[in-house]
Amino acid sequence: MPSALAKRLSAVVPSVTLAVNAKAAALRATGVDVFGFGVGEPDFDPPPSVLEAAKRAIDGGAHKYTAVSGIAPLKQAICDDHMRRRKQKASAKNVCVSVGAKQALFNVALSLYEPGDEVVIPTPCWVSYPEQVRIAGGAPVLVETREEDGWLLSADALAGALGPRTKAVILCTPSNPTGAAYPEERIRELAAVLRKHDCWILVDEIYAELVYDGFRHVSIAEVAPDLAARTIVIDGVSKTYAMTGWRIGWTIAPEIVTEALDMVQGQSTTNATAVAQHAAVAALTGPQDTVEAMRQKFERRRDVMVAGLNKVPGIRCRNPEGAFYAFADCRGMYGIEHAGKAIASDDEVAFFLLEHAHVAAVPGGAFGAPGYVRFSYATSEERILAGLDSMRTAIAAARRIA
Ligand code: PMP
Ligand code: GLU
Repeated sequence: MPSALAKRLSAVVPSVTLAVNAKAAALRATGVDVFGFGVGEPDFDPPPSVLEAAKRAIDGGAHKYTAVSGIAPLKQAICDDHMRRRKQKASAKNVCVSVGAKQALFNVALSLYEPGDEVVIPTPCWVSYPEQVRIAGGAPVLVETREEDGWLLSADALAGALGPRTKAVILCTPSNPTGAAYPEERIRELAAVLRKHDCWILVDEIYAELVYDGFRHVSIAEVAPDLAARTIVIDGVSKTYAMTGWRIGWTIAPEIVTEALDMVQGQSTTNATAVAQHAAVAALTGPQDTVEAMRQKFERRRDVMVAGLNKVPGIRCRNPEGAFYAFADCRGMYGIEHAGKAIASDDEVAFFLLEHAHVAAVPGGAFGAPGYVRFSYATSEERILAGLDSMRTAIAAARRIA
């Protein structure tokens, strides 16, 4: 048997969000009623117009390969959506439709990064950003942000992280895992720094429609159109339209980059599934009232989750502006007995919660923020309340030994 796996994998770790999901599913399969605060996946169904469009596409014969970068009506719908949401003109030549935003980001990584390249990523960050950079041979440069600063990267911190090797910066707003969203003024400050540094700017706006308390999401693509020649927007239907399993995401990027993405994807998955692409057209062009209805439900769930977490002994949680994650400081739970010893890490907090409260949640270390735990509230208010209750009961019954 050949001995070794590719060296490029030696620094890569598996997706912890997906691992937690798998662990919760395994426990569920044994008959345990697990509270699914782990993976970030809306529990809603996609809008009915999406399902009808998919059925029509099946009956209409959408069974063949499509163009690698996607079908024309979807690209057009993406360009129109881009204009509506970011006030920026794009054409089909700027769009590559992929198998989820995850593949879109992966295509970008393979197209842009090479050994010696640094990619600046503010942390806490989504688990896949650094790993994709590593797989592509680049080096992630993780820049810590702090809860006291609303988990936002400052212009000074960004300037300090940029260097001669910086190939790209990845910004995610609203953020997975913190739910923090960048106000327009901060976006403008970051743009001012980036203006002086010639690197690619990746903006992941997959949660942009999910903002609360009247927060106004503004894209760097809108506030800094002069940077369009090096800005790459990543978006998709997974979160906005509750379509995670349909696997449709995309990039809006300069033509030269889109050509590279097309080539990379043409040697891997070819096109995103044809029927799913038709469904995505319906999502973007159909009635948008379900998006607002889901947003309102998420806002109420956030209120319930955050208020509830703050009543759990040992947990403290900031009120996030967007996405569907509550990112809570769980260090107050350290010292509770678990498996015969005192809890001393966020991993152990997550294990304790899974075992004793049947609550699945993701330890913050996976996102670069040890001491915290991410609770997804993409589930019903009743389940959130019951899960919080279960946590309180488990913690009340536990012994503190340190
Ligand atoms: N970006 C962020 C920040 C995410 O949380 C996710 C969730 N999986 C993705 C990208 C990828 O989404 P998908 O592949 O489902 O489109
Ligand atoms: N983005 C979601 C999460 O962070 C989905 C899982 C994944 O793709 O990592 O939970």
